[in-house]
Amino acid sequence: KRLKEGLSKTKQGITGKIENLVKSYQKIDEELLEELEEILITADIGVQTTMSIMDSLRDKIKTDKIKEPEMIKELLKEELKEILGKFSADEKLNIEPSPAIILVVGVNGVGKTTSIGKIAHKLKKQNKKVLLAAGDTFRAAAVEQLKIWGDRVGVEVISHQEGSDPAAVIYDAIQAAKARQADVLICDTAGRLHNKKNLMNELGKISKIVEREYSTATREVLLVLDATTGQNAIQQAKVFKEATDISGLVLTKLDGTAKGGVVVGISQELAIPVKLIGVGEKMQDLQEFDSQSFVNALFG
Ligand code: GDP
Repeated sequence: KRLKEGLSKTKQGITGKIENLVKSYQKIDEELLEELEEILITADIGVQTTMSIMDSLRDKIKTDKIKEPEMIKELLKEELKEILGKFSADEKLNIEPSPAIILVVGVNGVGKTTSIGKIAHKLKKQNKKVLLAAGDTFRAAAVEQLKIWGDRVGVEVISHQEGSDPAAVIYDAIQAAKARQADVLICDTAGRLHNKKNLMNELGKISKIVEREYSTATREVLLVLDATTGQNAIQQAKVFKEATDISGLVLTKLDGTAKGGVVVGISQELAIPVKLIGVGEKMQDLQEFDSQSFVNALFG
């Protein structure tokens, strides 16, 4: 239900237009298919992904001799489920066995802090002992923001002063996680993307510390992307993917955008599973990504 509400804008963008389209045609012809292609591209599914969806649709229409425009909806639904299922495989957060460490990366403003708070809340509800590390030391506001979330959710935040070495914060947080026998340590990191080399150095340094100090921990590296930025999100993901090993994506602000189709493009172009989606600003507005319910919510 929440997912459906959250996706209402994307739904209008894709499904609303497709419904109008199929109503205005008597049979499936090239013109209809071209209009459909246009709708998919403007819904931020991405050119490459749209092309492969269209190829596959054309094949099916031909082989099964499909003529009724109304059938387009079902065909597209199947196609999207297939793509999302294949590339995302509906993977869950990798936090078992404990202890686990989650590094959270992403540029400023995408919803990194909020997502960390939401994940902490979710894990706490599962009776996990959670600890947060304020590794984004470049912005005082980032540390403050994380502390506010820590209070709200009721988990401890390990932090240093503004401007201190992020890797040192992570080091301390790991020692604290060991001492307190935390199940999951969630680490914020700096979100500066002005220079790929800096990013690689910074994330590389943190990875080394995790490797050395917490080699037994189950590891997850989540990249947070803002769905409202559409194709830009895909570009950001490409840069981060080169800088470090990303194991999962968190796609935020799906509630505020008609660009939810970007989920499809991201899954196909990056081949990194979308693990969580943000559908609002509140603590509970984070969901495990499930491709089937996602597509059903879009078309349901
Ligand atoms: P950060 O700079 O990446 O840490 O970003 P923040 O976590 O501070 O989030 C930036 C803004 O986006 C805040 O106003 C959040 O409330 C908002 N935000 C984060 N996630 C979501 C979401 O899933 N939906 C909506 N509507 N807003 C979100």
